[in-house]
Amino acid sequence: MNQPSTLQHHDLLIDGRRIRPSSGQYGVDLDPADETPIAEVALGNQADVDVAVAAARKAFDGWANMRAADRGRILYKFADLVEQHQEELVALESRDAGKPVGAVRRQDLPAVIDTIRYYAGWADKINGQVVPVRPDALTYTRREPMGVVGIIIPWNFPLMIGMWKIAPALACGCTLVVKPAEITPLSMLRAAELALEAGVPPGVFNIVTGKGSVVGEAIVQHAGIDKVTFTGSPSVGRGIMRGAAGNFKRITLELGGKSANLIFADANIDAAVRAAASGIFFNTGQVCSAGSRILVQREAYDEVVDKLANRAKTIRVGSPAAADTHMGPLVSSRQMKTVLDYVDIGKKEGAKLVTGGERLGSKGYFVSPAVFADVKHEMRVSQEEIFGPVASVIPFEDEQDAIRIANGTAYSLAAGVWSANITRVHHVANALKAGTVWINTYGYTDIRLPWGGSGDSGLGREHGDTAIEDFTEPKSIWLSLR
Ligand code: NAP
Ligand code: MG
Repeated sequence: MNQPSTLQHHDLLIDGRRIRPSSGQYGVDLDPADETPIAEVALGNQADVDVAVAAARKAFDGWANMRAADRGRILYKFADLVEQHQEELVALESRDAGKPVGAVRRQDLPAVIDTIRYYAGWADKINGQVVPVRPDALTYTRREPMGVVGIIIPWNFPLMIGMWKIAPALACGCTLVVKPAEITPLSMLRAAELALEAGVPPGVFNIVTGKGSVVGEAIVQHAGIDKVTFTGSPSVGRGIMRGAAGNFKRITLELGGKSANLIFADANIDAAVRAAASGIFFNTGQVCSAGSRILVQREAYDEVVDKLANRAKTIRVGSPAAADTHMGPLVSSRQMKTVLDYVDIGKKEGAKLVTGGERLGSKGYFVSPAVFADVKHEMRVSQEEIFGPVASVIPFEDEQDAIRIANGTAYSLAAGVWSANITRVHHVANALKAGTVWINTYGYTDIRLPWGGSGDSGLGREHGDTAIEDFTEPKSIWLSLR
C-alpha cells in the first residue's frame, strides 16, 4: 500500500474558509486496511457549531432567495466538478473507509453525481399551488426552504449517503451544517471545496468535523438549527428525536435494518444465491439494507446453504486499493470487534458456522465472510443488526411462515423475495413490512425512489420528491379580492 509522504491536515470548513477548531485539537484518521494514520482532522466542539450555525444563518437569505434556476445551475456545475475529480474522490473514499476502489468507482461516485444532477433539476420546479377556496380571495401555497439543516453522516457510504441529504437540501435553498463520521471525513471535505468552487456561496455548506457525542450532540441541541437529517444507529436516532424536541426540529432518520431475503424453492436458485451473497457481503456487510437474514424454503435449504458457503469462500478479501478485491476490511477495530463478538454469540446460541467469521491477518480489520446455518428466528444473530459480513440462513415451510419470520424483527427497511410464481411475489411483497422490496433481485437503490423504513429503521423517507417536501415548509397565502 502506498504511504502518504505527509499526513493530510484538515481544519473545519466554515463560511467558505478552513479554520482551526476552537479546541486546537485534532484527531487521527486511520486507514482501516493497515491501521496507518492518513490524516489529522479537526475536533470541533459546541463553540465551532455555534460559529457554523451563525454562518449558515447569515448565508440563508441570499441562498434561499436566489433565482431558483441559478441555484440549479450552481448544482449542475458542482456535479460536473465532482465528475471531473471522480478518481481523486474514489481514492479518498476507498482509503478512508476501506471500500474497494472498484466498487466506489462503479457504485458510489456515479450515484453521488446522479444525485446532485437529479436535485439540480428540482431547484426550479418546487412549485406551490393555487387552491380555489372562494371567489373573493386568491388562495395559494408556497414551499419555502426549511432553514438551517444539520446533516449527520455515517461512515459506510460517506459521500453517497451524505449527498442524499445535501443535494436536496441545497436545491430547496437550505443552508447546512454537516458532520461527517469522525473516522471517514475526507471525501466530504473535498466535495465541499468543489461545491465552493462551483459557486455555492460561503456559509451555505459548512462542515464541522469531530465526535458524534460532541459535534453531533451540539447540532441536535442547537436552537438555530431547524431540521436534522441523520443516518446511523437506532440508539443515536432515539437521542436525536429527544434532542429535537427542544425547538421542535424537523427530523428525518434512516437507521438500521435486519433485512430478510426470501428464497422460495421455485426460484432461480443460482441467481438467488449470487444476489444473496452480494446482498450480505457487499461493502463488507456494512449496509443498512444488507440482506442479513436469508430465509430459504425447506426443500431448497441445503442446496442454498451449500452454494452460499461456496460463494463466500471464493470472495477475494484484501486491499481496497487492489482492482480485483471483492471485499475490504471493516471500517474500524470497534466494528471488527462487534462482528467477531456476534460470530461467538451465534456459535453459543447453537447456530452452525459453515464458513468464515475469522479475523484475517493481524494488521487491518479484515474478517472472512461468514455463513451461519440452522439459525432460529429467536436467536440474537437473527434479530440484531450486526453490520458486518455475517449471513444467517433460516429455513421456512410456506408463504405464511416466511412472512411471519421476515416481519418478526424491530426493523423494516428492506426485503427481498425470490420466486417464479408471479402471484406469490406480489402477495409476499405486499405483506412484507419494509420500505423497499426487491423481487428477483436485491440491493438496488435509486435517488428517484423513496428510501427509508419505520420502527427501528427510522422515520420519514429520503430521495425523490419526498426529500423536496422534507426540506421545505408549506405556506398558505390568502389575498382578499374584495
Ligand atoms: P452512530 O454512532 O449512529 O454514528 C452515525 C453518525 O452519528 C456519525 O456521524 C456519528 O459520529 C454520529 N453520532 C454519534 N453519536 C452521536 C450523538 N450522540 N449525537 C449526534 N450524532 C452522533 O453509528 P456507529 O456507532 O458508527 O455504528 C454503530 C451501528 O450503527 C452500526 O453497527 C450499524 O448497526 C448502525 N449504522 C447504520 C447505518 C445505516 O446506513 N443505517 C450507518 C452506520 C451505522 P461519530 O462517528 O463521529 O462519533
Ligand atoms: Mg478513516
